[in-house]
Amino acid sequence: MDKVEIPAHDALPLDAIAPGVLGLRIVFVNVFGISHPNGEWTLIDAGLPLSAHRIKSWAQEFFSSAPNAIVLTHGHFDHVSEAKELADHWNVPIYAHPHEFPYLTGQQSYPAPDWKAGGGSMSLLSPTLPKGPVDLGSRLRPLPGDGSEVPVMPGWTLLRTPGHTPGHCSFYRAEDDVLLVGDAFCTTKPESFFEAALAQHTELHGPPAYFTSDWQAAKASVRRLAALEPRIVAPGHGKPLTGPDVPAALYKLAADFDRIAVPDDQKS
Ligand SMILES: [Zn+2]
Ligand SMILES: [Zn+2]
Repeated sequence: MDKVEIPAHDALPLDAIAPGVLGLRIVFVNVFGISHPNGEWTLIDAGLPLSAHRIKSWAQEFFSSAPNAIVLTHGHFDHVSEAKELADHWNVPIYAHPHEFPYLTGQQSYPAPDWKAGGGSMSLLSPTLPKGPVDLGSRLRPLPGDGSEVPVMPGWTLLRTPGHTPGHCSFYRAEDDVLLVGDAFCTTKPESFFEAALAQHTELHGPPAYFTSDWQAAKASVRRLAALEPRIVAPGHGKPLTGPDVPAALYKLAADFDRIAVPDDQKS
């Protein structure tokens, strides 16, 4: 039987986010390709189910070789589904924070998503979501501790940003203030990805509510990221943002996190 694949019109290259930083939006989730001065590159996150074909052809078009590794911000299905297939295809390791390992080694599932949280249309997807955890097997490698340089990404610092998941990580390049935030926050309203595609202006939103397990930690993580005053932010969901207003928008999200991000039934 032929495998169903995500059609080409649902994959949109996000060009020139920053020097050496490219992105690819697949339906509603982004992956990123980070080029390094030594000529290598790294794939950040690994997409939705059935998107491997799109990621491979994008990689072929924009990078001349296989990546040196796949690095995961966290283990939710929309960020890891094709990690194993791609890592096997390229014969590369997959890095993730050890706190995500139970969800990446087939041992444990994330708490069931709360589809009521935040409203919106994401619940339409729920029947198609994978039920069990993925098992990345012997490909999996631990990311280092908070504040360390990411082993395969020279110049990029790992920042622990738990809350959305226990082992969620963001990646920061201090040289030019570029920040990859995974699902620590979004630049589109995450519970309404499909409606938000029509919005004309971009504002910051919290992490996807239906999947976020610890709102206090999520708030602390956004505060931490705001304090970096990044010039460019590239999220897992929504458009990358740049410009002088980015730090102020992030401070606003951090200061008003309970109102903007936390669902009513989770407010303390
Ligand atoms: Zn997530
Ligand atoms: Zn996500």
